[in-house]
Amino acid sequence: MQCPKEPKVGLVDGTLSPGLAAKCCPDCGGAWIPPENYLNWQTRQGIRRDQDPQVNVLPSEIPEPLASSPLDNRAALCPDCQHYLVRGRIKLQKLMFFVERCPNCKGYWCDRGEWEILQQLQLDTHLEYIFSDLWQTSVKELEFAKRERQATIEKLGPEIAARLFELAELLEDHPNGDFGVAYLMRRFEQ
Ligand SMILES: [Zn+2]
Ligand SMILES: [Zn+2]
Repeated sequence: MQCPKEPKVGLVDGTLSPGLAAKCCPDCGGAWIPPENYLNWQTRQGIRRDQDPQVNVLPSEIPEPLASSPLDNRAALCPDCQHYLVRGRIKLQKLMFFVERCPNCKGYWCDRGEWEILQQLQLDTHLEYIFSDLWQTSVKELEFAKRERQATIEKLGPEIAARLFELAELLEDHPNGDFGVAYLMRRFEQ
Protein backbone atom coordinates (compact mmCIF):
# COMPACT_ATOMS: atom_id res chain seq x y z
CA MET A 1 0.00 0.00 0.00
CA GLN A 2 1.39 3.41 -1.02
CA CYS A 3 1.23 6.80 0.75
CA PRO A 4 -1.77 8.72 -0.70
CA LYS A 5 0.21 11.97 -0.56
CA GLU A 6 3.48 10.58 -1.91
CA PRO A 7 2.69 7.70 -4.23
CA LYS A 8 6.33 6.57 -4.40
CA VAL A 9 6.52 5.83 -0.67
CA GLY A 10 5.21 2.57 0.76
CA LEU A 11 3.19 2.54 3.99
CA VAL A 12 4.42 0.44 6.91
CA ASP A 13 2.63 -1.13 9.90
CA GLY A 14 2.28 1.14 12.91
CA THR A 15 0.04 1.97 15.87
CA LEU A 16 -1.80 5.26 16.42
CA SER A 17 -3.29 4.51 19.84
CA PRO A 18 -3.16 1.34 21.93
CA GLY A 19 -5.10 -1.25 19.97
CA LEU A 20 -5.43 0.87 16.84
CA ALA A 21 -3.18 -0.42 14.08
CA ALA A 22 -2.59 1.86 11.10
CA LYS A 23 -0.51 2.04 7.94
CA CYS A 24 2.05 4.78 8.46
CA CYS A 25 4.17 6.71 5.99
CA PRO A 26 7.81 6.68 7.09
CA ASP A 27 8.45 9.82 5.03
CA CYS A 28 5.65 12.33 5.68
CA GLY A 29 4.42 10.87 8.99
CA GLY A 30 0.82 10.52 7.80
CA ALA A 31 -1.30 7.52 8.73
CA TRP A 32 -3.97 5.50 6.95
CA ILE A 33 -6.57 4.02 9.28
CA PRO A 34 -8.24 1.03 7.65
CA PRO A 35 -12.02 1.13 8.23
CA GLU A 36 -12.25 -2.25 9.97
CA ASN A 37 -9.43 -1.32 12.37
CA TYR A 38 -11.17 1.92 13.27
CA LEU A 39 -14.61 0.37 13.78
CA ASN A 40 -13.22 -2.44 15.94
CA TRP A 41 -11.20 0.00 18.02
CA GLN A 42 -14.19 2.35 18.38
CA THR A 43 -16.37 -0.54 19.53
CA ARG A 44 -13.77 -1.67 22.07
CA GLN A 45 -13.75 1.90 23.49
CA GLY A 46 -17.47 1.49 24.15
CA ILE A 47 -18.39 4.18 21.59
CA ARG A 48 -21.94 4.20 20.30
CA ARG A 49 -22.02 5.54 16.79
CA ASP A 50 -25.71 6.50 16.99
CA GLN A 51 -24.93 9.09 19.70
CA ASP A 52 -23.20 12.38 19.04
CA PRO A 53 -20.29 13.01 21.36
CA GLN A 54 -20.29 15.84 23.88
CA VAL A 55 -17.88 18.61 23.00
CA ASN A 56 -16.09 19.38 26.22
CA VAL A 57 -12.70 20.53 24.99
CA LEU A 58 -12.55 23.78 23.08
CA PRO A 59 -10.04 24.15 20.26
CA SER A 60 -8.84 27.38 21.88
CA GLU A 61 -7.86 25.39 24.99
CA ILE A 62 -5.33 23.27 23.17
CA PRO A 63 -1.97 24.42 24.53
CA GLU A 64 0.14 24.44 21.40
CA PRO A 65 -1.47 23.27 18.21
CA LEU A 66 1.01 21.74 15.83
CA ALA A 67 1.77 23.43 12.55
CA SER A 68 -0.36 21.77 9.90
CA SER A 69 1.39 19.48 7.48
CA PRO A 70 2.39 21.00 4.13
CA LEU A 71 0.82 17.95 2.49
CA ASP A 72 -2.57 18.63 4.07
CA ASN A 73 -3.89 20.51 1.05
CA ARG A 74 -2.76 17.94 -1.46
CA ALA A 75 -5.65 16.01 -3.03
CA ALA A 76 -5.23 12.31 -2.54
CA LEU A 77 -6.60 8.95 -3.55
CA CYS A 78 -7.55 6.19 -1.14
CA PRO A 79 -4.49 3.95 -0.83
CA ASP A 80 -6.78 0.95 -0.67
CA CYS A 81 -9.56 1.42 -3.24
CA GLN A 82 -8.31 4.50 -5.17
CA HIS A 83 -11.37 6.74 -4.68
CA TYR A 84 -10.75 10.46 -4.10
CA LEU A 85 -10.58 11.21 -0.38
CA VAL A 86 -13.20 13.62 1.03
CA ARG A 87 -12.02 16.26 3.47
CA GLY A 88 -13.51 17.05 6.90
CA ARG A 89 -12.45 20.44 8.15
CA ILE A 90 -11.21 21.12 11.67
CA LYS A 91 -10.99 24.85 12.22
CA LEU A 92 -9.10 26.04 15.25
CA GLN A 93 -8.17 29.58 16.13
CA LYS A 94 -4.55 29.18 15.19
CA LEU A 95 -4.77 26.36 12.74
CA MET A 96 -7.02 24.67 10.28
CA PHE A 97 -6.60 21.18 8.97
CA PHE A 98 -8.48 18.47 7.20
CA VAL A 99 -9.01 14.88 8.15
CA GLU A 100 -9.63 12.85 5.02
CA ARG A 101 -12.00 9.99 4.54
CA CYS A 102 -12.57 7.61 1.66
CA PRO A 103 -16.25 7.87 0.65
CA ASN A 104 -16.13 4.30 -0.61
CA CYS A 105 -14.35 2.14 1.96
CA LYS A 106 -14.63 4.69 4.87
CA GLY A 107 -10.98 4.53 5.80
CA TYR A 108 -9.35 7.69 7.25
CA TRP A 109 -6.16 9.54 6.47
CA CYS A 110 -4.46 11.80 9.02
CA ASP A 111 -1.48 13.91 8.06
CA ARG A 112 1.40 14.18 10.54
CA GLY A 113 0.33 15.59 13.92
CA GLU A 114 -3.39 15.56 13.18
CA TRP A 115 -4.18 12.44 15.20
CA GLU A 116 -2.54 14.00 18.29
CA ILE A 117 -4.76 17.09 17.97
CA LEU A 118 -7.83 14.93 17.50
CA GLN A 119 -6.91 13.11 20.71
CA GLN A 120 -6.64 16.41 22.59
CA LEU A 121 -10.04 17.45 21.24
CA GLN A 122 -11.43 14.03 22.24
CA LEU A 123 -12.46 13.57 18.63
CA ASP A 124 -10.21 10.58 17.96
CA THR A 125 -13.03 8.23 18.93
CA HIS A 126 -15.57 10.12 16.77
CA LEU A 127 -13.92 10.75 13.43
CA GLU A 128 -17.25 10.48 11.58
CA TYR A 129 -18.48 13.46 13.64
CA ILE A 130 -15.96 15.75 11.95
CA PHE A 131 -17.78 15.20 8.69
CA SER A 132 -21.01 16.70 10.07
CA ASP A 133 -21.81 20.35 10.82
CA LEU A 134 -22.81 19.41 14.34
CA TRP A 135 -19.30 19.63 15.70
CA GLN A 136 -18.79 23.22 14.57
CA THR A 137 -22.18 24.16 16.06
CA SER A 138 -21.41 22.50 19.40
CA VAL A 139 -18.06 24.29 19.59
CA LYS A 140 -19.79 27.66 19.08
CA GLU A 141 -22.36 26.88 21.79
CA LEU A 142 -19.71 25.83 24.27
CA GLU A 143 -17.62 28.92 23.52
CA PHE A 144 -20.66 31.15 24.11
CA ALA A 145 -21.46 29.46 27.43
CA LYS A 146 -17.87 29.91 28.64
CA ARG A 147 -17.81 33.60 27.64
CA GLU A 148 -21.14 34.26 29.36
CA ARG A 149 -19.91 32.62 32.55
CA GLN A 150 -16.70 34.66 32.49
CA ALA A 151 -18.61 37.91 31.95
CA THR A 152 -20.90 37.07 34.89
CA ILE A 153 -17.89 36.52 37.16
CA GLU A 154 -16.40 39.84 36.06
CA LYS A 155 -19.63 41.78 36.66
CA LEU A 156 -20.68 40.23 39.98
CA GLY A 157 -17.39 39.08 41.46
CA PRO A 158 -16.46 35.42 41.96
CA GLU A 159 -18.39 34.94 45.22
CA ILE A 160 -21.80 36.10 44.05
CA ALA A 161 -21.23 34.50 40.65
CA ALA A 162 -20.56 31.13 42.31
CA ARG A 163 -23.80 31.41 44.30
CA LEU A 164 -25.68 32.43 41.18
CA PHE A 165 -24.38 29.42 39.22
CA GLU A 166 -25.30 27.18 42.12
CA LEU A 167 -28.80 28.66 42.30
CA ALA A 168 -29.23 28.33 38.53
CA GLU A 169 -28.39 24.64 38.78
CA LEU A 170 -30.78 24.13 41.70
CA LEU A 171 -33.60 25.81 39.78
CA GLU A 172 -32.79 23.87 36.61
CA ASP A 173 -33.11 20.60 38.50
CA HIS A 174 -36.25 21.59 40.40
CA PRO A 175 -39.64 20.75 38.84
CA ASN A 176 -40.95 24.23 39.79
CA GLY A 177 -37.70 26.04 39.03
CA ASP A 178 -39.45 28.50 36.71
CA PHE A 179 -41.27 29.95 39.74
CA GLY A 180 -37.89 30.91 41.18
CA VAL A 181 -36.87 32.57 37.93
CA ALA A 182 -40.20 34.47 37.77
CA TYR A 183 -39.69 35.64 41.38
CA LEU A 184 -36.26 37.06 40.56
CA MET A 185 -37.54 38.79 37.46
CA ARG A 186 -40.40 40.41 39.39
CA ARG A 187 -37.96 41.69 41.98
CA PHE A 188 -36.10 43.53 39.25
CA GLU A 189 -39.13 44.92 37.48
CA GLN A 190 -39.77 47.38 40.29
ZN1 LIG B 1 3.80 10.09 2.92
ZN1 LIG C 1 -11.12 3.54 -0.02
